[in-house]
Amino acid sequence: MVTAIVGANWGDEGKGKITDLLAERSDVVVRFQGGANAGHTILNEHGRFALHILPSGIFYPHVTNIIGNGVALDIARLAQELSDLAEQGIPAPNLIVSQRAQILMPYHSLQDAYEEQRLGGRAFGSTKSGIAPFYSDKYAKMGIQVCDLYHEARLRDRLERAVEVKNVLFQHLYHQPPLDVEQLYGQLLEYRELIRPYVGDAVGFLHQALGQGKRVLLEGQLGAMKDPDLGIFPMTTSSHTLAGFGCVGAPVPPTSIQEVLCVTKAYSSSVGSNTEPFLSELTGPEGEELRRRGGDKGEYGATTGRPRRVGWFDTVATKYGCMVQGATQVALTCLDVLGYLDEIPVCVGYELDGVVTDRFPTTPELLRAKPVFETLPGWKQDVRGMTDYAALPAQAKAYVDFLEERIGVPITLVSTGPGRHEVAQRK
Ligand code: GDP
Repeated sequence: MVTAIVGANWGDEGKGKITDLLAERSDVVVRFQGGANAGHTILNEHGRFALHILPSGIFYPHVTNIIGNGVALDIARLAQELSDLAEQGIPAPNLIVSQRAQILMPYHSLQDAYEEQRLGGRAFGSTKSGIAPFYSDKYAKMGIQVCDLYHEARLRDRLERAVEVKNVLFQHLYHQPPLDVEQLYGQLLEYRELIRPYVGDAVGFLHQALGQGKRVLLEGQLGAMKDPDLGIFPMTTSSHTLAGFGCVGAPVPPTSIQEVLCVTKAYSSSVGSNTEPFLSELTGPEGEELRRRGGDKGEYGATTGRPRRVGWFDTVATKYGCMVQGATQVALTCLDVLGYLDEIPVCVGYELDGVVTDRFPTTPELLRAKPVFETLPGWKQDVRGMTDYAALPAQAKAYVDFLEERIGVPITLVSTGPGRHEVAQRK
């Protein structure tokens, strides 16, 4: 059976922590989309880790970790992450890199940076990891698959075709130097050796594992608001962040996904450009305080170190996020962070042209919408690390009940700290 662990919001909801926790009782963990452009922070008995491309099951020797075909495979970053983990004393993980995954090329990152520079004030706030050019090339059939690395004539041909197009763009649109095919080819041959021990038939492996009744986790990157179809387009990422895409990017059969565990924080946070609509945002000294207290070391991007925008819980966005993810249950993280507040506003509606709605609108409407808040009492108590749900303060439980009622999906897990076992089972 398959459980998808995915984000209800803008990303950084704590999916890595929840995956690390549930992997204890799972056999396979799969990354099915995105690349090394976002990070999952994990605190466990081995230390503190920021994973970017490796699945969060790598801390368990019994788990097979898969980088699925839907991922933007940054081989240099993967090799770096593997060697960093080895340096930190983590045993070499069981890892399969799908032979059908496509390779994020150095020119994808260059194009990403050139394009952001070209856009100037209109830039998307990209992490410049090459994700948008990577997926554009994939769908334009210009990508290079991992399996191509092992067929040299084909590899060279694929590379030459891609460089032909890139060079027109680089020289004439961006006024940058052209790419050198020989140098890129040499780099690909190096990549080939770096990943050789891991390359395999992930499709066959997953189907066989499911046939044997193994427990599989799909680990999403970013969240529903960043999906290019159902998110806040175009302030989105370039791969599908929805559990449904696991059927393509992992891949698992649609009928095998029994649980969709949507992760959401007890408040909101978002990385990316300041031009993105973020209705429940908290700015000024109050926002600064929430940012400082948030997450495990403040709300700063695990990959970029950029300060995240923070705000109050948004039930409109989260209800929609859970709906498009197909959530069967919700994990609410970071409840401990809110323990300093006397009262806690929650965004319960959007006002659009004088009418309050709890329907999540399209981007042009969202840009005009105003948040409507309801205020709940705080609990003024440190609940960090509490594992007995019943023992939480009454106001904290009332807060969770309120959110559950608004989003319409059972909140089964409540996380009370960044550590692996700092979590209370609610249902
Ligand atoms: P992901 O990309 O969804 O895995 O999320 P990130 O790892 O980017 O961001 C989540 C942040 O919240 C990390 O710093 C986690 O260590 C932290 N975190 C996760 N759950 C909790 C929690 O219950 N309490 C606190 N204080 N921090 C948490």
